[in-house]
Amino acid sequence: MGATFVHEMEVTMKIYLNGEYVEKEDAKVSVFDHGLLYGDGVFEGIRLYDGCVFKLDEHLERLEFSAKAILLELPMTRNEFSEAVCETCRRNDLRNGYVRLVVTRGSGHLGLTPDGCGPPNVIIIADEIQLYPEEFYENGLKIISVPTRRINASALPPAIKSLNYLNNILAKIEAKRVGFQEALMLNDKGEIAECTGDNVFIISKGVLFTPPLDAGSLRGITRGAVIDLASELGVPYREQALTRYDLWTSDECFLTGTAAEVIPCVEVDHRPVGNGQPGDMTRKFIASFREKAKVDGIKI
Ligand code: PMP
Repeated sequence: MGATFVHEMEVTMKIYLNGEYVEKEDAKVSVFDHGLLYGDGVFEGIRLYDGCVFKLDEHLERLEFSAKAILLELPMTRNEFSEAVCETCRRNDLRNGYVRLVVTRGSGHLGLTPDGCGPPNVIIIADEIQLYPEEFYENGLKIISVPTRRINASALPPAIKSLNYLNNILAKIEAKRVGFQEALMLNDKGEIAECTGDNVFIISKGVLFTPPLDAGSLRGITRGAVIDLASELGVPYREQALTRYDLWTSDECFLTGTAAEVIPCVEVDHRPVGNGQPGDMTRKFIASFREKAKVDGIKI
């Protein structure tokens, strides 16, 4: 009896799956889903702060653009997605966390063609998260550029947030194998594209720089929030092609992403950034971002 009681009291997780909220153990899709067979699908990673979903509309717009780019017809309206994301958070009693919204091509045949696939599977997972330990926000992250280049935009536009992350995974493996948490990815021209799951910023002589999107970076929602913050903080901002040299010689460097938020980077390719400590302006961006995240969301 006691054991049964304990089992019943175990914290369960409710997953949104095609209009239903099912237990984690029952959240299953077909092995013929092309999301699994080919990485054919799109997704978003979304953050929940103090019961508010941060920049939900921006995430849903990006999901729509990603889906449109791969000719995947979304089975739900923006409002329906919005409601489902909020309800998944509510059903899991989550006030702070991370939401993974996935839309796959759906179940099909073993061939590549999406013809005959579907309907798309819509999955929403809401969970707790801390990507990096707090000490990295205090002391900064060390990153290294890796041989694997960011995929060429004419092969697969990096702006599409697709389920096909093998390019980034290879880069991540390369960084980890040589003892680094994160990889700096270059494009075919040798310019900075982004990290495996984060956008890159530097500060040089008081100016904030980030690579343009056509360098091979995702239009990061956190990137957008930081660009908005720059004007609020009165920091001049420029989008400009950057090389590794620009990072090596910058005064400050930080990465941005939904999971990582704003995180200082204190070493690039074994060169200390600035004095090797998180810079004052970076700290300002971190603090301002945390303030903004608390107030700039949709209540669940
Ligand atoms: N680049 C890549 C490749 C990513 O996967 C992510 C995380 N989704 C980002 C950048 C940062 O984007 P965002 O701020 O929207 O999370």
